[in-house]
Amino acid sequence: MNTIEIRVSETANVPDATNKRCRVELLLLVDGIKTTAFDSVSIEPCALAAVATQSGEFYIATCGCGIPDCAGIYRGVRVSQSNGIISWEVPVPYLPEKGSDRSQSGIVKYEFSADSYRAEIAKMVDTLRSLQVREAKGDRFELHGHPGTLVEQILGWIDTGTVPF
Ligand SMILES: [Zn+2]
Repeated sequence: MNTIEIRVSETANVPDATNKRCRVELLLLVDGIKTTAFDSVSIEPCALAAVATQSGEFYIATCGCGIPDCAGIYRGVRVSQSNGIISWEVPVPYLPEKGSDRSQSGIVKYEFSADSYRAEIAKMVDTLRSLQVREAKGDRFELHGHPGTLVEQILGWIDTGTVPF
């Protein structure tokens, strides 16, 4: 069984006198280390949340703009749920080298306890809610280059199990 940890970080990029505009990034740690399969790609919070209860193919990591194809990602993570275990099959390479033939050389498998996975998602949602409170006071957050009242949108998508990108 693998462990998962999700960290939400923010980088202030356009500070002004009163309000901040920040870029939000998610860091995914599996067994305590950053997953190298997802180097150079953005972690998608809505996909992470959907995977807490859904099976299928999900772009858990995507382009910095939110569109996987744009970064050359053509295969998502295959997720299945059974007996309290959430399994991921991550295609390798997840992000093919530029100019490569897109062939898949292998799969990395992870298994997470559904309970501990869902606890991480609950923590992520709590952090997003604290950003939402600041958004209501005028701070602005960006994820995948989409500015605006983003946290509210993300929380809405998470509530409905939607993966928007
Ligand atoms: Zn892009």
